[in-house]
Amino acid sequence: MEKNLVACYCRVSTEEQAKFGFSIDAQKTALTKYCKENHLKFDMYVDEGISASSMRRPALQKMLNKAYLYKTIIFTKLDRFSRNVKDANDMVSILARNNCSIKAIDEDDIDTTTADGMFIFNLKMSLAQREIGKTSERINFVFEDKRTKGEVTSGKKKYGYDIINKKYTINQNEADSVVKFFEFFKSINGNCNKAYNYYIDHFPFKSYSSMTRMLRNKSYIGLHKLKYQDKYLENYVPRIMTDELFNSVQDLLIKKQPRESRINAFYMFSGLIYCDECKNRFVARYGLYKKDGIITDSEYHYYLCPHPYKPNPKFTCNNKKTIREENIEEYLLNNIRTEFDKYKVSVSVKSERKVDTNEIAILERKLKRLKDLYLDDLITKEDYKKDYENLNNKLSALKEQESAETKIDLSTTEKLLNSSWNIVYKSLSPDNQRRFWLSAIDKVYINNGSVTSIVFK
Ligand SMILES: [Zn+2]
Repeated sequence: MEKNLVACYCRVSTEEQAKFGFSIDAQKTALTKYCKENHLKFDMYVDEGISASSMRRPALQKMLNKAYLYKTIIFTKLDRFSRNVKDANDMVSILARNNCSIKAIDEDDIDTTTADGMFIFNLKMSLAQREIGKTSERINFVFEDKRTKGEVTSGKKKYGYDIINKKYTINQNEADSVVKFFEFFKSINGNCNKAYNYYIDHFPFKSYSSMTRMLRNKSYIGLHKLKYQDKYLENYVPRIMTDELFNSVQDLLIKKQPRESRINAFYMFSGLIYCDECKNRFVARYGLYKKDGIITDSEYHYYLCPHPYKPNPKFTCNNKKTIREENIEEYLLNNIRTEFDKYKVSVSVKSERKVDTNEIAILERKLKRLKDLYLDDLITKEDYKKDYENLNNKLSALKEQESAETKIDLSTTEKLLNSSWNIVYKSLSPDNQRRFWLSAIDKVYINNGSVTSIVFK
């Protein structure tokens, strides 16, 4: 019998309610809208005010017991359904036995009926689980709801604006400087060296990349880009220049740096590759293959340290060799397991000596007493300085060690690498292949055209 009923599921945990005062309504509205648009008959199940890590969710249980009725279980995001890999897998197998799939309307690659979708499901579950226990939970869903109301969510200042009553408002002085800079850039026909000299003289920021970010910032024509997405919000940030001025600068940028500003370039490892010499992040570029001396349409990607080529002579780096994307990928596919074991050993050596929190407290008390002695004129300034430096060095070394220890938990990555990821890897879309690398790897260091070390998540 063909089933044509679906179940919608929403959840808000006690932690989310307490921290964000977030109600269940935003989820309900989104799900109802989705079902109406797709002409689906639905039942709504709601769990409210239960701890995020708890399995005791009465509405969910009720829904699972009636799984035979439903074609699909629909929720907004995977973390609403479950944040625990094992529970989620148990639930999915119950659902599969009842011929029922799951769908996350805000994550369109979640579809448990295919091998690819199942892999992504597992991957995302491992990521969601990693989030539990972090002190600040990222709940983009709430943020998006706030953003559509025009409220500033991150509190981060944008140059050209102030944040007043949670809204971006034009800062006239800064906005004028930005407009003048755009006009200057146009008047020098996009000469990047001249532009950079102007930029460091007129703005508080000094890096070349911050200049190009400013020149490409669509906020200045009233469009706010959503993080990690190719979506823009209107009416969130006020415009400070005309489309005409902005677009003429974009045209010049493309003409001057055709390789940098291609809009649709997809780089598998962008953000992950670092210079082993100067520790800065590599930039990604593309080139076109030649055949019989003629340039073809097919492109190759490579990465390089930006510093040898910076117009500012203060930044220089000897690591000039580039590395091809396919070489990085091949290296990772062949060596990720050994690299991971190497990394595990290196971090376990580092954290062998456990930090004694008592020792930190003692040092802090000593520092305070030392200051009292000095303030009461019982020791000389020189003695104070010498002892202070000594104690303070010990203290900061301990604190550094402490923070390094709390960071290291490789169990999720270990699980991921122990999964059969390499079987499905080749059949994944490039987007999902990238997601896989991002979920396991934090940094890949390169020197002289080859991988030197890898830092895992
Ligand atoms: Zn470098």
